[in-house]
Amino acid sequence: MGKLIMLVAVFAAAWWLLKRYVRSLHQDAPPPPAVAEDMVRCAHCGVHLPRSESLALDGKLFCSEEHSRLER
Ligand SMILES: [Zn+2]
Repeated sequence: MGKLIMLVAVFAAAWWLLKRYVRSLHQDAPPPPAVAEDMVRCAHCGVHLPRSESLALDGKLFCSEEHSRLER
């Protein structure tokens, strides 16, 4: 019986160490590279924003619909 408890304890310790090791691997891994997105400038107020969030009008880019209207 004593041997069984010993075996369980060894397995538990090994499992704990493995989990700790896997966690440390995840922490050391560099963060995934951010997808580089073009930054564009609002033609009205000059604020910089990602191209996907900008509004294109007459070949100009704006940060919001309001600014695209003001520039028209
Ligand atoms: Zn703007």
